[in-house]
Amino acid sequence: MSIEGEMGVQSMLPRPEVSCKCPKSKCLLMYCECFSRDVMCGDKCSCYQCRNNVDFEDKRQKARKAVLEKDPNAFTNKLEVIGGEQS
Ligand SMILES: [Zn+2]
Ligand SMILES: [Zn+2]
Repeated sequence: MSIEGEMGVQSMLPRPEVSCKCPKSKCLLMYCECFSRDVMCGDKCSCYQCRNNVDFEDKRQKARKAVLEKDPNAFTNKLEVIGGEQS
């Protein structure tokens, strides 16, 4: 029983604490702290007309794709910085 509980905890990794205050970008531009980290906006964000959430998943994916077309590493760069400390 206790093993099951531990596995449950492991699968629920904490999401990075990111928040933004985007006034106009609708959080679908790299100006948005959340979007630029490939994270959806949450309760801590005080953004305006946010589209970076499940209700606008469609638009979010499109915006994401547009960014990746310009820079395929737009999102992965940051992940690598966090993951790889080898130089
Ligand atoms: Zn946000
Ligand atoms: Zn937002």
